[in-house]
Amino acid sequence: MTAKRLTSLKHKIALAFYIILGMALLNGMIAILLSQQLRSEIEHLVGIDVVKVTTALQLAKNSEKLQIITTRLNHYDTEQQRLALLSELTTQWELLLHDSRTLANLETSHKEHAELNSTIDTQLDSLQQLSLLNDLTDSALQAKLQVENIQANLTGMASGFADEMQIQLQQINSHYAPLIAQKKFDAIRVNIQENQKLSTYLHLGEHLFVLLSQVKNASSIVELNQLQRDAMRLVIKMEEIAISFHQNRSIYLDWLSQIKQNMVGDDNLFQLSRNALKSTQIANAHLSYQADAAQVVATFTQNLVNHVEGEIKLAGGELKNDSTAFVVLIFFSGALYCFFIWLTSWHFIAKGIITPVIATRDAMNAIANEKLDTQMPVTDNLELQQMVSSLETLKTYAAQVKAMSETDGLTGCYNRRYLDVQIQRELIYAQEHHMPLGIVMFDIDNFKQFNDRYGHVLGDQCLKQIVNAAKSILQRPTDILARYGGEEFMLLLPSSHLEDAYKIAERLREKIISLEIPHEDSPHSGIVTISAGITCWQEPQRLDINALINQADEALYHAKLTGRNRTETFLNIPARYS
Ligand code: GH3
Ligand code: MG
Ligand code: MG
Repeated sequence: MTAKRLTSLKHKIALAFYIILGMALLNGMIAILLSQQLRSEIEHLVGIDVVKVTTALQLAKNSEKLQIITTRLNHYDTEQQRLALLSELTTQWELLLHDSRTLANLETSHKEHAELNSTIDTQLDSLQQLSLLNDLTDSALQAKLQVENIQANLTGMASGFADEMQIQLQQINSHYAPLIAQKKFDAIRVNIQENQKLSTYLHLGEHLFVLLSQVKNASSIVELNQLQRDAMRLVIKMEEIAISFHQNRSIYLDWLSQIKQNMVGDDNLFQLSRNALKSTQIANAHLSYQADAAQVVATFTQNLVNHVEGEIKLAGGELKNDSTAFVVLIFFSGALYCFFIWLTSWHFIAKGIITPVIATRDAMNAIANEKLDTQMPVTDNLELQQMVSSLETLKTYAAQVKAMSETDGLTGCYNRRYLDVQIQRELIYAQEHHMPLGIVMFDIDNFKQFNDRYGHVLGDQCLKQIVNAAKSILQRPTDILARYGGEEFMLLLPSSHLEDAYKIAERLREKIISLEIPHEDSPHSGIVTISAGITCWQEPQRLDINALINQADEALYHAKLTGRNRTETFLNIPARYS
C-alpha cells in the first residue's frame, strides 16, 4: 500500500479558493458569451431586418407610384402637364434607385443581392430613357398641337365653305326665274347642271371635312393612311367638279387649294398626325417598358418583404428559443456552479479539513480521558498529520504514565492506588447489578524473618514469585490482584461468593506451598507460606469499602492468630474479633 501524499492545509484552502474563483469566472464567461450572442441576434433583427422591411415596403410603394405616373404620361394635354409628369417620373426613378441601393447594401443573401442588382440595372436603363422619352413626348405633343391647330382651322373653314356654297347655290337658283321668263332654255339647262355640280361639290366637301375631322381620332398609321387616301380621292373628285364649273370656277378652285394646303406639304395634317402617333407609340412603348420595370421592382420588393417578414418571424422564434435556452443554461450553470462550490467545500473543507480536525480533537479528548486504545485519525493534511504524530507520542507517554501509576514497580501487579479505585468501582457495580464481590487478603508468613535470614534481595524475589503464583491461579479477566502494602496482597473477585473466594484463596495457598520456597525459620516445613483472610459483599449488606477491607483484614488477622498457613473467612471469626 502506498503512503498517502501529505498536502498542506494552506495549499488545500488556496486550491479550493482558486477552483471556486475559476468556476465563478467560467460561469460569468458563459453568461457574457450567451448574452453577447443574444444581443447580436436582437441587433440583427431590429437593426437590419426591420430596416430592410421598411426600405423594401418604401420601394414597393414608390414603384407602384411610378406605375401610376407612367400611366398618367399617356394622357397629358399641355406642355406644363407633360414637364411636370416627366419631372415627377425622374424624381420617382431616382428615389427608387436610392432605395434599391440601400436595400442592396442591407441584403446579405447572394441570390437576392443578384436579383436586386438586376433590378437596379433596369432602373438605370429606365432613368437613361427619360431624355428620349422627353424628346418623344415633346415631338408628340408638338405634332398633336399642330394637328389640333389645323383641325381648328379646318373646322372654321368647313363652316365658311358651307356658307359660301349656300350663297353660290342661292345665286344659281336666283338665275332660274329670269331665264325662265326669257325662255333661255339652254341657259336654264346649264344652270341646272351648275346647280347639280355645286350640290355634289358641297356634298363632297362636307364629306371631306368629316374625314379630316376624323384624323385626330385615328389610332393607327394604317387608319391615317386610309383617311388620307379617301380624302385625296374626294379632293381629286372635287377638283374635277371645280374645273367643270362655268361660273365662279376660281372660287371653287380656291377653296380646294385652301383645303389641300392642310393635306399636302411638309407639315400636312396627316403627316403631323402620323408623327404624333409614332412619337406617342414609341413613348408609350418606353413607358410600358418603364411600367414593367416598376412592376418588376414592385413584385420583387413585395416578395422580399414577404421573405424578410418570414425571416423576422423565424428569427423572432429563434430568438425566443435562444432566450429560453439562455435562461435554462444560466440556471443549470448556476446550479452546477453551486454544486461545484458545495463539492469543493465538502471535499476540501468539510472532508479534508473539518472532519480530520474533529477526529483529531476527539482523539485528544479520548487520550486526555485515559482511553488509550483510541484509534488515531487518518489524514492527508500535513499539519494535522504532524499533530496526529505528536498525539501518538503523547498517547504512548500517557499509557506509560498510566501503567506506572497503576502498577507496582517491584512485582508488576496492580498497586494500592489502582486497588483503591477499582474496589470502589467493583462494589458499586456489584450493588447495581446485584452480584457478589469476593475479597481475599493474604500476607506472607514470617516474612520479616525471611528477610533477616536471606536478605532483601531474595525477599524481593520471593515477593515476585508469590505474585506470579497468584496471577497463575486467577481465571477470570475481571479478577484483580493488587499489592495492598509491604508483603500483603489483595484479590478482588467480582461475581464470586464467599465459597468461591475461599476456594481461590486455598488454591493460592497450596500453590505457594507447592513452590517450596525455602524458609528455614518457618514452622511450616521450612518453606514460605501465606495466610489469607476472606470476605464477601452480597446483598442486602450495607457496607462501605473500609468496612469491607476491615473484614478481610480481620479474617487475615484471625488466620495469623490461629497458626498461619491457613485461610479464614470473616463469617467464621468468633464474636470477640468482629
Ligand atoms: P507475620 O507472619 O505475622 O506476618 O510475620 P511477619 O514477619 O511477616 O510480620 P510483618 O508482616 O510485620 O512483617 C513484614 C515484613 O515484610 C517487614 C519487612 O521487612 C518485610 N517487607 C515489607 N516490604 C518488603 C519488600 O518490599 N521487600 C522485602 N524484601 N521485604 C519487605
Ligand atoms: Mg507477614
Ligand atoms: Mg505483613
